[in-house]
Amino acid sequence: MKVIVIIPAAGLGTRMASAPSAKGKKPALPKQFTELAGTPILFHTLRKFIASPAVTEIYVSLRTNEIAGFRLDKKTFGEVTKRIQIVEGGEHRQHSVANAIAAISAAPDDIVLVHDAVRPFVTEEIINEVIRGAQKYGAAIAGVPAVDTIKEVKRTAEGAVVTATIPREHVVMAQTPQGFRYDVLKKAFDEATADGFIGTDEASLVERSGHEVAVVMGSHRNIKITTPADLELAEFYLRT
Ligand code: C5P
Repeated sequence: MKVIVIIPAAGLGTRMASAPSAKGKKPALPKQFTELAGTPILFHTLRKFIASPAVTEIYVSLRTNEIAGFRLDKKTFGEVTKRIQIVEGGEHRQHSVANAIAAISAAPDDIVLVHDAVRPFVTEEIINEVIRGAQKYGAAIAGVPAVDTIKEVKRTAEGAVVTATIPREHVVMAQTPQGFRYDVLKKAFDEATADGFIGTDEASLVERSGHEVAVVMGSHRNIKITTPADLELAEFYLRT
């Protein structure tokens, strides 16, 4: 059984746009290439999967203009023996993942993990838990209990008003990795494409295709670096 990892890294990172770039002159980099302790966030993330013995192959989706400059230099990655394949990203995250799925050659029961390029604090333990869950249930995601009370709202001209409070025990904050048997993921993507459905994660596609998705324990440290404040937190985590 193979474990194939897809890392979508083709976002524009517009929510990071207010991050001051070096000397405040150059436009801010897409968040996956923003440096954390001198190394792009994507490289921190990639190193975790390169180091994971369970992982067989890695596919990284990049924006077209970033493909030519992408190098797995020895200083950052050491000797890489795994197959690392670069594919072109798409307009939405889902397209970036779909392009990688199209490039994969897998058996129905091989496992495919999808992981955000901007979640560098994923651990070996979380990776293995998601793989185990995907093998057992066909689909499993990392998640953490919600610490805040979650409100449903309706948007108004001034902002939003609360329409309901969702009981906290019914809420999990979805993270990545999200892991699937290849046949389950492929069917869900084919159906979403046929229906023109765009989701914000892979599990939402698998849910709508009628397959149950299990949740395994993620970590509150497994943050998705999205805003300048997340970057400060990430720098702190790296030091501790
Ligand atoms: O922007 P969002 O928070 O959805 O980004 C999650 C991940 O998906 C990031 O790693 C980002 O680079 C990636 N992404 C992508 N292609 C896009 C949009 C986002 O690979 N078109």
